[in-house]
Amino acid sequence: MNDQSLRLLPRAYSLRDAEGKRKRVTVREALRQYGQSLNFLADRRRTLHAAFEFSHFLMVIPTIIFFAYYVSVSTMVLYFVIFSVLANVANTIWYHRYCSHRAFQFSHPIIPKLCLWFNPLGYREEVYALVHHVHHTKADEDEDPNGPQLSWLGNYAASYFEIDTDITPAQYEHVKARLAHVGMPFSSYESFQRWACVESIPHYLGRWAFATVFWAGVFYAMGGMPTLMAWFAVQFCWHAIVRDFNFRGHGTPEKPKQVDGWDMDRRTLALNQRFYGYLAGEWHNNHHAFRASANTAFMRGQVDIPFQMIRLLKGVGIVSKYHDHRKEFAARFLNGEKVGRARAVDVVAEESTAPGHIG
Ligand SMILES: [Zn+2]
Ligand SMILES: [Zn+2]
Repeated sequence: MNDQSLRLLPRAYSLRDAEGKRKRVTVREALRQYGQSLNFLADRRRTLHAAFEFSHFLMVIPTIIFFAYYVSVSTMVLYFVIFSVLANVANTIWYHRYCSHRAFQFSHPIIPKLCLWFNPLGYREEVYALVHHVHHTKADEDEDPNGPQLSWLGNYAASYFEIDTDITPAQYEHVKARLAHVGMPFSSYESFQRWACVESIPHYLGRWAFATVFWAGVFYAMGGMPTLMAWFAVQFCWHAIVRDFNFRGHGTPEKPKQVDGWDMDRRTLALNQRFYGYLAGEWHNNHHAFRASANTAFMRGQVDIPFQMIRLLKGVGIVSKYHDHRKEFAARFLNGEKVGRARAVDVVAEESTAPGHIG
């Protein structure tokens, strides 16, 4: 990430006041950013962002129908089961640990391609991963695309921060290299500059349409309209809760919220929150310490369901290997070592050499 290939375009607001002090992003500023990053009439590179957000808001309709007409014990059980599967499998295992951090490898290159075609969420893997790489390298700084400093609404809008396409062909190769393991065919350099999409656009639209029809068919076949509406309602809520996590995952310099003996890594303001840890294995402070690890439950009382799933996938031969930095975490943080920002430089240098690590 030291190369200059990955940059985000400037935002519609500043995080600093006239005296250079950090200020909160206002509702008006967040909405201006939201409008700007979706205004495809002003810039066609925003077209896919706008198409996705339109589909996200369309899901409001089945969400209202579900909660108005189809709530029962069985549909709510189904709702929470689907929610849990999407949170652990789609979000943590697929988007976060695999696409963003290559924390494990599949045993055959066809497997990630199948994951792309059956990913029901439609949110582009490249947007998740590339913006997330910036989050890790700029955590808590002004350029950080997530965090409480952006406000809740600002994080909602942050799903559409735009990748700078004004890069050289050689830099574009670096961007593609960050996504090579995901298995999508790539757009040409010219197409990337025109549409800001690294994945081949027909491929993306084709698989998104396929997965939408396929999963809608599966849930309709399972139980008709109630299960179909439950499925769409979960999708809407999933996108909202991911954006909520991006807001709550870190503290601020004024309110760091980190707990001694629990949030061990003080190079960032990331937090080990029990809600997101138990829900989806997102022990975020541990994750910032060892971002290439497929396991983030490093301390007593922490459970990492996605990691147990990855172990299971290895057991049945779908995953060929994974990184588990539990021992390294214990050596660094649990043996009486003093933890502080002074060590940050060495630690980053160590970790960026981890096999298969990127971002
Ligand atoms: Zn973070
Ligand atoms: Zn991460």
